[in-house]
Amino acid sequence: MRHNRRIAGSIPVLFALLALLGAPPAIASRKEAPGHTAGTPAKADFQAFLARLWADAQKQGIARRTFDLAFSGVSPDPSIVALTKKQSEFVKPIWSYLDSAISATRLERGRAMAERYAAELAAIERKYGVDRRIVLGIWGMETNFGSFTGDKDVIRSLATLAFVRYRDDFFRDELLVALRMLEEGHVERRAMRGSWAGAMGQTQFMPSSFMKYAVDFDGDGAKDVWGTIPDALASTANYLAGHGWQRGQPWGLEVRLPAGFDLASANGFADFARWSSAGLAGATGALPRAGQAMLYLPAGIRGPALLVTENYRVIKKYNSSDAYALAVAHLGDRIMGGGGFAADWPRGDKRLSMAEVKEIQRHLVRMGLPVGKIDGRIGEISRESVRKAQIRHGLPADGYPTLALLARLRQKP
Ligand code: CA
Repeated sequence: MRHNRRIAGSIPVLFALLALLGAPPAIASRKEAPGHTAGTPAKADFQAFLARLWADAQKQGIARRTFDLAFSGVSPDPSIVALTKKQSEFVKPIWSYLDSAISATRLERGRAMAERYAAELAAIERKYGVDRRIVLGIWGMETNFGSFTGDKDVIRSLATLAFVRYRDDFFRDELLVALRMLEEGHVERRAMRGSWAGAMGQTQFMPSSFMKYAVDFDGDGAKDVWGTIPDALASTANYLAGHGWQRGQPWGLEVRLPAGFDLASANGFADFARWSSAGLAGATGALPRAGQAMLYLPAGIRGPALLVTENYRVIKKYNSSDAYALAVAHLGDRIMGGGGFAADWPRGDKRLSMAEVKEIQRHLVRMGLPVGKIDGRIGEISRESVRKAQIRHGLPADGYPTLALLARLRQKP
């Protein structure tokens, strides 16, 4: 089954490559593309890039033999360059993201895996203190429980991204760590496979995460995040523990707000006991007795309300998107028998374009409110500023940007 999936996975890449080259096979088969056309940089530049990389690799104690083996026959991958230029016009609504992330087939596979690896997951919970729901949620979100771990050559992927300086030096640093992995013999050159962005194995570890957090849980001497499920899942738990996961604390839960609840007063973290005395109640169960949480309304006041703990923020260390973190948390809950959200999502709402979200962010900046980067994405900083703008404009302070808010911001300076 995996073999078939790998072949299937390579077809879109092939099409992307052909589309990029946009030319008859004669050009595709030429040894060297002329100049910098179609995002395919010149070969000489790549050799110069490798020469500079070698200087740094050598300083870090990488052997020439390792370096040569790593880059033998490697050239930049134009299909990866194309992927870095892909931009979405719309922010995908969180409910659409959750719908596709938590499909019936994924839930079914997740439940089967939870049962199959129940003993290992229990041992991992004991050792690292991380709830199996979250480990399962990440495994499901990253590779559909090992269905697609990526068949790209990680050295080539990282070298391409480093060469075009995508995200500055991030991928160059990862490439140097990948060389360290080869130098120390953690993985064989040809087995170093992963995503187009260089993420590897069952739960998609970047090289730096591998070096810091990968563990040999089954005790066979190898940290095998590709093919040994207990190693991969324990490494994931170790990553979360290393980023501050608090044992015994949930990621959060859905709550019901009392009628007439003053959203403007609900800023930041507070004890669950305080939320309880403010009239908030769990949507399906009681609020935890201990710990702190903050109110988060992922789709505003007309969607589900959540109290999220610091552990929710730890999930975001894996991937900083709120949609991702919520999908991980909810997928884990659902695998372990939880139900869907009690409140409906505002599915009929017109969605904002990236440009409109950016415009809202520019208005916030104009009002002296921080947004981080004007990038069309609402993270924690922008959300708090949206709340402040909503309070100033007499709108419900749910931190959720809407066209109504944009209209107000356009009217009033
Ligand atoms: Ca092992």
